[in-house]
Amino acid sequence: MQYLKDGAARLGLKLKSQQIEQFHTYYRELLDWNRRVNLTSITEFKEVQLKHFLDSLTVTLAFTRHVISEKLSLIDIGSGAGFPGLPLKIAFPDIKLVLLEATGKKVAFLHHLTQKLNLDDVEVLAGRAEDIAHQAQYHERFDIVLSRAVAFLPALAELTLPFCAINGKVIIQKKGDIEDEVSQAARAIETLGGGQPEVKKIEITELADDRYLVIIDKVSPTPTQYPRRPGMPSKRPIVDKGSLK
Ligand code: SAH
Repeated sequence: MQYLKDGAARLGLKLKSQQIEQFHTYYRELLDWNRRVNLTSITEFKEVQLKHFLDSLTVTLAFTRHVISEKLSLIDIGSGAGFPGLPLKIAFPDIKLVLLEATGKKVAFLHHLTQKLNLDDVEVLAGRAEDIAHQAQYHERFDIVLSRAVAFLPALAELTLPFCAINGKVIIQKKGDIEDEVSQAARAIETLGGGQPEVKKIEITELADDRYLVIIDKVSPTPTQYPRRPGMPSKRPIVDKGSLK
């Protein structure tokens, strides 16, 4: 796990041997389940260390001193095989984490893995963000809402901001040319109670391939009609007429 260790050190994180052992278990289980369930196309050991584990840990760049306080509650929307939520839970064992995922087989993997890793305070939740966000115990209840590789930003704003408590933060991981996407998301973010988004480029050498965090503060309540029914956020994203190319 030298690539992960070195990369984490650049983020100011010193992973203990027990945590490295947990990442080993994660890697083994990911590969094993990936033969039956389509979890990831990245399977090479070095690539998993960098593009899944370390990439998940870059979320810490949104925090002062790159530390996630143990008091915080986080939800990962469309977690898939657990990214970015689970690597963060391994690195910061005292956070409260919910992993939300719509696909049953991936949910089964997440249940299996969290048991295997002996993690406390992790809830694996099966369902769609559009439905779950309306349930009182999840609506505007989280300090931090995470999401990686789930949808176009205007749609993703609608799948994430409704979960975020006022004064909390939505942290979205994006790759590639995102300038247009961010400007097209302005209307959705404002409508859903978000502030001006901050875009932070990931500058660590191992991941210097145009990765960004889009960080949005939750400044006012999300109107109760959002999110709309499943599929609508992507099918009819909240954008200004004519802005979609
Ligand atoms: N975040 C993971 C997975 C990305 S793939 C990673 O970066 O590796 C996108 C995942 O989001 C899929 O597993 C899909 O089932 C899930 N997803 C897509 N739309 C969703 C929704 N509306 N609610 C919950 N999960 C969703």
